[in-house]
This record gives sequence, structure tokens and C-alpha cells, in this order.
Amino acid sequence: MLPQPVSLLRNARLATGELRDVALDGPVVADVLPAGAGSAAGAALDLGGALLLPAGAEPHAHLDKAYTWDAIEPPFGDLVGAIESFHAFQEQLTEEDILARARRAALRLLANGTTAIRSHVNLLPGDRPFRGVDAMVRLRAELDGLLDLELVALPPVGMDDATIEAALDRGLDLVGGAPHLDPAPDADVRRLVAIAERRGIGIDLHTDESLDGPVTITGFAAAVRDWPADRVRTAGHSVRLGTLGADDLREAVDAVVASGIGVVGKMGIGLRALFTPPSARDVVER
Ligand SMILES: [Zn+2]
Repeated sequence: MLPQPVSLLRNARLATGELRDVALDGPVVADVLPAGAGSAAGAALDLGGALLLPAGAEPHAHLDKAYTWDAIEPPFGDLVGAIESFHAFQEQLTEEDILARARRAALRLLANGTTAIRSHVNLLPGDRPFRGVDAMVRLRAELDGLLDLELVALPPVGMDDATIEAALDRGLDLVGGAPHLDPAPDADVRRLVAIAERRGIGIDLHTDESLDGPVTITGFAAAVRDWPADRVRTAGHSVRLGTLGADDLREAVDAVVASGIGVVGKMGIGLRALFTPPSARDVVER
């Protein structure tokens, strides 16, 4: 006989510190009651005062690169060295290898309470560019019902539109890219935004992942400012915001706020400014 599904969590500690009983209707919280007041239609689970939090969401993962450190043995150093060593390594990657490592990482996240992951997926140079794409689409199907996996196409610099669109056709959800690495960064932003617009889907760009390189986030903001409110637009990493001068930072922050872009990045002073009301921004910038 199958065990009864849990319909009541007793003695859950909420984030506010209060002790409560939480009634469940399947996967949905049906009621939050004073501790001891809940009655269970099905099985009850006593949490004994353990902290109860909503399921976690991972907004920026690279599951296709998970658990590769030992195989690559990258040189200790900077981001560029890490990227170069991965690019050399990825030539030998197989779909099955990518799937096995990505599955291991996704299940580990799930076991720790994360039920939604957005993962970028490298489109690979050469004549077999979709090994990672096909592995991740298979993983998404495997985990259907356990966690929500959203997949972003991450093309290398200079990959043509047709190959990016072919990757999307194989089941990816969002356009991605790293325009700050392109010789013409602002034009690359517009090109990638145009692909998303042609297909009516969202975009999640690696944005300005350097301390002193180009600033593309302002042009990105301008390009998506008039998009429908419910279409995804995300800027990842956004390291450069942390090294902008006050005037440039103000311009970038205002553009990002007006565009509805969500920023997933390193928490430097720039990002603190983003999450600070305008009246307090001068204080942050000083
Ligand atoms: Zn990334």
C-alpha cells in the first residue's frame, strides 16, 4: 500500500520566527494555523520547530559545465583562463557525459530544496554544436514534474543566427549570449534581441562580465524597453556595474529600471545602487 500523502506540517518555524501548523492541499499551501490547531486529512509530519521556507530557485546555472573541474584541471587564475581551458575541454564532450553530470548537479540542487533552475547551455563550436543542447532538453524531460528547468542558448562569439535558431528549435527556451566578448558588442546585443523578437521569446544575456571592458547593459536596456511586460529579459553577471563611475552608473541604473530587466549578478556597489531607492542613491554613490 502506498503511504498517505502529507497534508499537514506540524510545528513549522516560519521565517518570521513564529511556530505554525501548515495545511497542504497537494503541492499547495491551503492554510497556515496556530501550532497545534491543524488537523490532518492525510498524514501529518511534525517538523519539531525546523525552519520552513519556500522552495529555492536558481536563476543562473551552467549545468552543462557541472563537475568538470577535476577533468579539466584548469589553471589557477582568472576568468579568461577558465573559459579558455573549458573551450579546449569541450571538444571531447559527449551528449551522454553532459547529461550525466548535469543530472547529478540538478538532483543535488533538488535534494537541497531547489525546484526551479534556469541553466545556460553552451552551443559548441565545430560540426556537432548541439551535444549540450540535446543533453539538457533530455534532462528537462526526465525531471518534468520534479523541477522546472528553463534553458538558455549560450552561443560562442560569432556564431551565426541560423545555428542559434536551430538550437532554439531543438527545445531551448530563451536566447542568450555574451555580447561584451564580441568585437562589436552593441551590435551583437541588437542582433540577439532581434532573434528573440523574431521568435517571440525572452532573453538572458551574460552582460559585461569584466572589470574594465565594454558596457552593454545600457544598450540592452534600450533594446528591450518596449517589450511586453511579461517577456523575460535578464542581465547575468553584470560585473562591470561595480566599477562604473557615478554618472555612468546612474545612467545604467535608470535605463535598467525603465526597461524591466532583471539583474542576476555579483553584489557590488552598482547592484546595491540598483536595489536602493533613488532618494538614497547619492549616498550609495558617495
Ligand atoms: Zn554565467
